[in-house]
Amino acid sequence: MVKKSYCEMISRSQPGPGDGGNTGSWRVKRPVMDQKKCIPAKTGKPSCFTCWLYCPDCVVSKTIPPAINLDYCKGCGICAEECPAGAIEMVDEASFIGKEK
Ligand code: SF4
Ligand code: SF4
Repeated sequence: MVKKSYCEMISRSQPGPGDGGNTGSWRVKRPVMDQKKCIPAKTGKPSCFTCWLYCPDCVVSKTIPPAINLDYCKGCGICAEECPAGAIEMVDEASFIGKEK
């Protein structure tokens, strides 16, 4: 048996967006990002990205500003919990009913 390094095991355990299925369909809370508080959005610099790092479904982009793919976000709230700037609020999904096309 080939012995694998710790780093190799970590890199192979990375999920991809959608690996958990269309988890956005059963989400009850939606992460809403306030770009006035988000560090890369307000500074224009590629910094922080804690939400990208911690999202277990890899559905946050490492872009300025970061974007959340709501098709696959399961609403776990980890991003909101970990954001150092308090820029993500978990909002009841029911409050969006009838407000989107
Ligand atoms: S963790 Fe918060 S401040 Fe950092 S990139 Fe994400 S939303 Fe912005
Ligand atoms: S709530 Fe945040 S951490 Fe959880 S799946 Fe959605 S974007 Fe990722």
